[in-house]
Order: sequence, then structure tokens, then C-alpha cells
Amino acid sequence: MAFDYAIPVIVAGGGAAGAVAALAARDAGVDVLLLEQDATPFGTTSMSQGLLCAAGTAAQRSLGIDDDGEQLFADIMEKTRGRTDPVLARAIAHGSGPALDWLVAAHGLPYTLDTRFKPSFGHTRLRVHGWPGRSGGDTLQFLHRRLEETGVDILYRARLVELVTGPDGRVQGVVIERPDGGRDAIGCDTAILATGGFAGNHDMVHTHIPDARGAHYHGHEGSDGLGIRLGAGIGGGLADMGAYQGYGMLTDPQGITLPPGFILEGGLLVNAHGDRFADETADISAIIHPVLAQPDGRAWVIFDERIEQACAHIQESMQLRELNAAKGADSIGADAGRLDATLADAWAAYREGRPDSQGRVWADAPPLAPLRALRLRGAIYHTQGGLRTDGDGRVLDAGGRPLPNLFACGGAARSVSGPSCWGYLPAMGICGAVTLGRLAGMAAARMALGSFPT
Ligand SMILES: Cc1cc2nc3c(=O)[nH]c(=O)nc-3n(C[C@H](O)[C@H](O)[C@H](O)COP(=O)(O)OP(=O)(O)OC[C@H]3O[C@@H](n4cnc5c(N)ncnc54)[C@H](O)[C@@H]3O)c2cc1C
Repeated sequence: MAFDYAIPVIVAGGGAAGAVAALAARDAGVDVLLLEQDATPFGTTSMSQGLLCAAGTAAQRSLGIDDDGEQLFADIMEKTRGRTDPVLARAIAHGSGPALDWLVAAHGLPYTLDTRFKPSFGHTRLRVHGWPGRSGGDTLQFLHRRLEETGVDILYRARLVELVTGPDGRVQGVVIERPDGGRDAIGCDTAILATGGFAGNHDMVHTHIPDARGAHYHGHEGSDGLGIRLGAGIGGGLADMGAYQGYGMLTDPQGITLPPGFILEGGLLVNAHGDRFADETADISAIIHPVLAQPDGRAWVIFDERIEQACAHIQESMQLRELNAAKGADSIGADAGRLDATLADAWAAYREGRPDSQGRVWADAPPLAPLRALRLRGAIYHTQGGLRTDGDGRVLDAGGRPLPNLFACGGAARSVSGPSCWGYLPAMGICGAVTLGRLAGMAAARMALGSFPT
């Protein structure tokens, strides 16, 4: 195929993974072209809170937090019950701190350690970082500003529709499609797929994630899995396609993600009868299923003013407050005696320092009257399976052999969450996107410069 022009590194997808991959490749001294199908960058990244777990960061060290890549690796293996790729897990765990420190030091990303996000849901250390008072949309805008400042070329409204390969299997270039149907062919030395996951593709979810069939999807529509399918179409292997992050605390009807802090500070979940049904602190992702199993597929979070105040700095909390979304707990319609008994069980366990009837160990006090409530539903947020890669983000075939010059990162690549929904560690979505994005960007640049070991 004749190409209209050529560029050393092409990155498809302008979310966190693609933006960071492009920035890393550019920092390594090569020309980069970023392709984004939307008119403005948004993606799942902009729907997120922008929280990112990272180990061994300068921010942790400044607060005396004892953490490193090996500890995060151990937490990943524990959370996934050993059912994730240890090579990739080690690369992400050890690469997370340097990736965040690089974004902060070299690019000025104003992230700090979120000291209120206590070690929980599988993290044994204080290691969730974020931009105080800001969200994933702010982070993505920041990254795109840096792309422009560092001279990365960006084509918006440019949808990757084909990877063009030669007889040796090398990606020689890509074909993009414009909204008017026009097509361009662009040559490249290396290509990076950062096109997000597939949670927005009903057929793919139906095929690969039978336990989430019919679950509400609360993510970006661009996650249609095309990049994954294109990579697989030229020989890329797929792995852990049943992996995803579910969430049990999407407020209904507001559609706003209730921050996990509402649970970590002492909130609890009940159903329409006022009964608990799970240890809310056990799993941030697999809780989707107990919530979906409640009458009408709905649950309520019960909290008080103290808990609400502890989360008041988070954007989603502010939005819910502006909407006056929280109601008195009597709005649930549950039998008051039953809700009282539920609270009494939690309080007794808290005072006696033992697990309650759901197995929850109460580090913070349960809520006190006057009780407040928000109605919740379960939803699938993003997938964690995808193209199989090595620790540089290089796409591997089904037998584990690397494809010549194709990389993947973020939702397009298999992450380190095991085979299902129960292996997800909080803030691993952005961590994986940013860390593998950086590693893929650096490796793709080295390959384009001819210094990548073959
Ligand atoms: C509500 C919500 C909250 C979340 N909160 C957090 C959080 O706080 N912390 C965390 O770690 N994770 C969180 N996540 C998950 C996290 O957002 C994702 O894991 C992460 O953003 C994935 O980044 P990405 O760059 O791979 O995908 P995206 O951000 O979705 O970017 C992919 C981009 O590729 C573009 N694209 C797709 N196909 C093509 C194509 N063929 N050609 C060109 N462009 C294409 C899309 O338009 C999109 O812009 C959350 C998810 C949701 C839904």
C-alpha cells in the first residue's frame, strides 16, 4: 500500500494510555503522531476520578510511607490469587512509581498522595495518588496540553480502522477514517494501540464476560474494542478477556460515582428491607454482583454528616451535594426496626473490635443518626482483559512470541486484574494505562531509533 506520509511512532487513542505513550516516545526523541477518533479528547479517562496507584513514589517517600514496587507486586498477586501474568505485574508494579514521578517532575503533573484513601480493597499501603479537587478530565486535558507543548502531532476525528502489515508481519502503517468517510494511509516504524477496552461493545461483553451480561455500562462509548480486534487480526493473542472492574456504588438516578471514601469512612450498604448483604470493604469491584442480586437490583448507602464531610473534597461528592441527592434514611421505605437492627449489629462489632455479621471489621465508626441515604446500582465500568503484552507493552501472539513492532497499553491491553472482576485493585486502571503507556512509548521509540534489542 502507498502511504500518504510516514512518521516513526503512531499512537492510536488519546486517553491516559495513549497520551502518556506519546509523551514518553516524544521525550525519547522521536516524532510521534497521535490519532484520536473524537473531536476532543475524553475517553474513559475523563469519566474517571483520575486516581492512580503507584508504589515507591517521591510523594510517598516525603511522607515516610514504606512502599516499593515489590510490595505492590505482592499485593497484585495476592488480590488476583496468583492468576495474573507475573512478568506484566512486576513491570507495572515496579514501573508505576517512576512513571508517576516522571510525569510530576518532567511534565509538572500536579499529583500528590491521597492521604485520605486508606490502604484498602487489597492495597496494603497508602499509595493512591491524585490531583486534589480535580478529576480524570482535568488530568487528560493536562496531558494533551503537554503533548502540544512537546510537539506531538495530534489528529482528531481520525479513527484507526486498519493495521497494514507486510509479508514479515511488521506493521508498515495504518489506515484512518474521517467522519465524512474519507480515508488516509499513514506509514510508521512502530504502532501503539491505546484505543481503550471493550466494555462499550455489547457483543464482546456478551461473548467474553457472561457474568456481566445485561449489567448497566457506565463508561465511555469509545471503548468498542476495535483496537483489540485489529491487534488480534494481525496475530496478537488475547488474555483475561473476562476481567473487568464492576462497581456497586453508581448513584441512581444521578449516575454519579459515589467515592469509595463513603465506605472507608464508615458508611454501609443495605437493601430495600434495610438489611446488609455483603462486607462492603472486601472488594471494590466484585461488589457489583451482591448489589445486582438485591430486590430491583438496587441498594442504598447509609452514612452520616461526619462521613459526608470526610469525602466533601471529592468532585463527585460536591456534585451530589449540589444536586441535593442524599435523603433521610427513612426515604428507603425499609422497616425502621430492621434498619435499626442492622446498625446495632455494626455498632456492636465496632465497639467489641470483632467482625460483624457480614465479616466486616470496623476501623471507623458506623454512621450515627440522623442517617442519610443515597440509592445505588451496580455497573460495569471498564474491562481489564485485552491484547497480551510483555513488560514493555509489546504485543505477544497466543504462544507468547512478540509481534515485530506492535505495542498495546491501557484498556487495549490485558492488565493485572486476574481473569474476572474480583482481582481489581483500586486505581489500577489509570496506573496500568499510565505505566504500560510509558513503557510502551519508550520501547517503541527505541525500536524506531534502532536501539531496541531484537
Ligand atoms: C466512571 C469511571 C471512573 C473511573 N475511575 C478510575 C479511577 O479513579 N482510577 C483508575 O485507576 N481507574 C478508573 N477508571 C478506569 C480508567 O478510567 C481506565 O482504566 C483508563 O482511563 C483507561 O485509559 P485508556 O487510555 O486505555 O482508555 P480511554 O481513556 O478510554 O482512551 C481511549 C481513547 O481511544 C479512542 N479510540 C478508541 N478507538 C479508537 C480508534 N479506533 N481510533 C482512534 N481512537 C480510538 C477513544 O475515543 C478514547 O479517547 C474509571 C472508569 C470509569 C468508567
